[in-house]
Amino acid sequence: MATGMIGTIHSWHQLTWSRLQGARADGRLPHALLFSGDEGCAHEVLMQSLVKSFLCLTPVGDAEGQACGSCRSCQVFESGAHPDYKMIAAPADKQVISVDQIRGLNHFLELSRSYSPSRVVLIHEAGRMNVNAANSLLKSLEEPSADTHILLFSSRASTLLPTIRSRCQQIRLPLPSSEQALAWLHAQPLTQSAELLLNLAGGKPMLALELDSGELIAARQLWQQQLLAVISRDKSIAEVGSEWAKQSKEQLLDWQLNTIHHALRFSLASAVQDEPETLALYEAVSGRNLWTLYDELLEMKGLATHPLNNQLFAENMLSLWLKS
Ligand SMILES: [Zn+2]
Repeated sequence: MATGMIGTIHSWHQLTWSRLQGARADGRLPHALLFSGDEGCAHEVLMQSLVKSFLCLTPVGDAEGQACGSCRSCQVFESGAHPDYKMIAAPADKQVISVDQIRGLNHFLELSRSYSPSRVVLIHEAGRMNVNAANSLLKSLEEPSADTHILLFSSRASTLLPTIRSRCQQIRLPLPSSEQALAWLHAQPLTQSAELLLNLAGGKPMLALELDSGELIAARQLWQQQLLAVISRDKSIAEVGSEWAKQSKEQLLDWQLNTIHHALRFSLASAVQDEPETLALYEAVSGRNLWTLYDELLEMKGLATHPLNNQLFAENMLSLWLKS
């Protein structure tokens, strides 16, 4: 595009945005879209911009259809009570989108539209629908009401039922290129090097920004020291396991997977910008079968949201490092 920038759409989303708006303008946009992408890349911002654009009464033409921000729809949207919009997500205290939530959604889709050009539904982390909820959604996907957009987002689209996936157009949202991510990070008020943070965050810019808060960096350094202590047998698995049990399983797994990912790259290429603890860790695991370790930890990630005993889970992760 000529300007290289469309309003508030992040640079790594602009191609997706343009294609979707183009399809919409030509009347080729399928009513059900399933977006997938990694956490930490502001995909929520893209979803929100799409929702607002679909609801807006006077989308801005030369900003490729972005919401105007001032019409009745845009104003009501900001108040959080738009009559033509429904967002579904797992309640904060549960990990699951229930069948009752989807029934409520189906009922919403039977109502007539009020003043926006379309009715819009967003299902955030659709992979959290339980089987009954997913089955209940099928009908709405199969027999869409007119002027309706059903947007699903999942950071793990592979966990969705194939029957859901096959009824949606699937759109994979890309990770930003490192140039795009760094350009964005350099515009943020950071206390540490953007390159280092982005490296630690596995290329995910929002995660990199979060890491800039000293607490997380310190927590990660402590985590690395603990892992090193187990690998060098200075500490027992049970000892470190009881420390790890107090932390988020997913965070621990992300750190481990990231480290292995980088260690693999490190052994092949080199010159990765890293902290001393990280380099010590690479050294400690060099020559080991890291691919197997990676696969095993990845498998554990699929279980991380299950209500398992934290201590046992932590010890299982650590024992994988010892046997690799
Ligand atoms: Zn508007």
